[in-house]
Amino acid sequence: MENFIVSARKYRPDTFQTVVGQLSITSTLKNAIKNNQLAHAYLFCGPRGVGKTTCARIFAKTINCQNLTADTEPCNQCESCQAFNGSRSYNIHELDAASNNSVDDIRNLTDQVRIPPQIGKYSIYIIDEVHMLSQAAFNAFLKTLEEPPKHAIFILATTEKHKIIPTILSRCQIFDFNRIKIADISDHLGFVSKSEQVAIEAEALNVIAHKADGAMRDALSIFDQIVSFSGREITYKDVISNLNVLDYDYYFRLIDLLLKNDVPNALLLFNEVLDHGFDGHHFINGLSSHIRDLMVCKDPVTVQLLEVGGEIREKYKAQAGICDAGFLLEALKISNECDMQYKTSQNKRLLVELSLIRMAQLTLKKK
Ligand SMILES: [Zn+2]
Repeated sequence: MENFIVSARKYRPDTFQTVVGQLSITSTLKNAIKNNQLAHAYLFCGPRGVGKTTCARIFAKTINCQNLTADTEPCNQCESCQAFNGSRSYNIHELDAASNNSVDDIRNLTDQVRIPPQIGKYSIYIIDEVHMLSQAAFNAFLKTLEEPPKHAIFILATTEKHKIIPTILSRCQIFDFNRIKIADISDHLGFVSKSEQVAIEAEALNVIAHKADGAMRDALSIFDQIVSFSGREITYKDVISNLNVLDYDYYFRLIDLLLKNDVPNALLLFNEVLDHGFDGHHFINGLSSHIRDLMVCKDPVTVQLLEVGGEIREKYKAQAGICDAGFLLEALKISNECDMQYKTSQNKRLLVELSLIRMAQLTLKKK
């Protein structure tokens, strides 16, 4: 592909509205701007890839926008916004504390803090991975944080909130970013693939979203990787083979077999999984998750805990409908025991097989 730009960069949100999955945070930040209640220091906490730095940049841009929209979004057109978007704004300063964690690095930054901005009202200082600062650097920074000049706003970001000392915590307004929900990631990937004219099955999007484990950046880079491998038409099968994910169809089939007490075919199915190069432990963990997902479908209150959407969701609901709640609970207990014994077991294959046989027998007892 000519001029290929990674999707995580190309589709980086540039307004609050386009940030995915952090609605309560973006609306609080917008309100702070609207009501002119800006703090001098913010701490953005949360796992990697969930939008901390992106939100910090949008916040910085919006604060300095000369022509805010009615909805408190940056206009993306005024001189200040354009300077931000072109990465040539003097109002934003970023320091990655993972690689610049010495006292000198912080001194350079605090020296700049004193200089008021030329255009716009505020200078914003984003310090990424702030927990990586050395003790001495922390101390040097603390002084500035205690008495910041009027025009300075600090946004500290960290994946490890517990490593931030209380004196820093107490001076910051704290925002906890969530892992992004699978359905939200899936939706956004759908939007990106449409814009890129990539035809991709909904189930394939779901697998990518699952694999990304709540991080949008990871989801987009997996997406890119699969596009470069499979081209512009992507099926569920392409994705699971590319990512080495076990097809959930195995679990749907397995549960059907167990319900019919069909031990021989259940064992053959497990054999097929092993033949495809998956390990027994991986298989039994997947089975536990599958049973758990069926259990949450049994109750309308917990069905929201099922993190899949669309057709697959219906598939789960349908299978949950034919499973008895007692069966699911007992089967989950068995697969959980298998999981715990797996590492120490001498004959791992037999352990899994025995567990499957026990699960199949659960339906016999009932009759
Ligand atoms: Zn603007």
